[in-house]
Amino acid sequence: MSDGTALMPSTTRQLPLATRGAGVWIWDADGKDYLDGSSGPVAVNLGECHPDVVAALAEQASTLSFAHRLQFRNPPVERLARDVVSLLGKGFDRAMFVSSGSEANELALKLAFMYWDAQGLPEKTRFVTTTNSYHGSTLASIQISGQPRYSAAFRPLVTENERVRAPYLHRIRIDESIADPAPIVLQRLREDFAGLDHEHTAAILIETVGGASAAALVPPPGYFELLRELCDEYRMLWIADEVMSGFGRTGRWFGFQRWGADPDLVVFAKGVSGGYAPLGGVGLSRRVSQSLLEAKGAISAGHTYSNNPLGAAVGVATLEVMHRDGLVLAADERGDMLGDGLRRIKERSASIVDVRGVGLMWGVEFGDAETGRPLPSSAGFTPRFVESCAAEGLLVYPARGGIDGVSGDAVLVSPPLIISEAEVVELLNRFERALRHLETEI
Ligand code: PMP
Repeated sequence: MSDGTALMPSTTRQLPLATRGAGVWIWDADGKDYLDGSSGPVAVNLGECHPDVVAALAEQASTLSFAHRLQFRNPPVERLARDVVSLLGKGFDRAMFVSSGSEANELALKLAFMYWDAQGLPEKTRFVTTTNSYHGSTLASIQISGQPRYSAAFRPLVTENERVRAPYLHRIRIDESIADPAPIVLQRLREDFAGLDHEHTAAILIETVGGASAAALVPPPGYFELLRELCDEYRMLWIADEVMSGFGRTGRWFGFQRWGADPDLVVFAKGVSGGYAPLGGVGLSRRVSQSLLEAKGAISAGHTYSNNPLGAAVGVATLEVMHRDGLVLAADERGDMLGDGLRRIKERSASIVDVRGVGLMWGVEFGDAETGRPLPSSAGFTPRFVESCAAEGLLVYPARGGIDGVSGDAVLVSPPLIISEAEVVELLNRFERALRHLETEI
């Protein structure tokens, strides 16, 4: 333990010790302040130490700390299920809870499996995802993520699945010199679906707005209508991964609602508890829930912490604060301000090639601003930029995706939904200073 810690390090970067947080700010042991421009991993939607959520957590912990899902129902989880189902809207009638986004995705895969079995089509056991996607780090969720490098080390433990091309508008615009790539994206989705093994495919799992591996890939108009049509035509379920885009992040309660879209299962985590409790889950459409209930009578997510009252109480309090303080609308308004500011920085920069996003989920992609092309991986632009931001007291989230062998340097800028206008200005100032430093260095 020469480095003075018994904790296995998560990264080779030297990390500061975080000792205190308030709102969008975190302080380290030396008293240096950091503006949280990424809500941690796009999770801390209410910022640090929100008093109402902290109070709800303390109250629940001292009222009923644990109740096992096979022995009791409990009030906070009953309430949270009702709240989530009502926010998901028409067509949804049940929710299930687990402890993380990865677990929630795996639960959704299991539900899709069971659904087709109940429909008399047990051969439907395969899944489709997109290139440039991220769905988690457990064995199944890492495997279905659209970056083979995540799962390469675990090949003997995982199975192959099929992928369709992600709606990467910027890449098509640059690589193929096409001014309006939207029709191409739709055409490719149609082509890719036609080539799938439909007979054996249970579902497509897709991030509504691509995040960790894609830096806010926003699909073009018509994309989700077409996806619904194709899923119906080929008898596949549509699982919307809203782990990052859910609960206000995109300026709607769920990202799919921006497009009036109609998924069968919705996976959530992160924002549902603002990151204060390990909480995730799946919202089930009536079509799926009724079929499963008729076939099986009950479905258990299976984990010790499923339906945990502490996590659920945090979820209920988080959603109450979001309603009361109008944070979904705020995300939309502050998001416009943040997006405009990032686009202005792009105009002045030699190394930003694309700024894209919705609500408070923005992606900034780096490259050669003149040609729009990516930088060589060896330049290590993204990690260096993250370091440069940290030196300026700003946290951004590396979202280095790349597609089909092309590396893509990018970061997510996605501050807590409670960010004030003055703090957006401060975020943009720190972002531009960090970029200037790095550009000068390079
Ligand atoms: N899906 C998406 C879209 C995510 O962004 C993430 C986390 N970055 C996950 C799943 C996995 O969630 P968790 O880290 O809570 O397991």
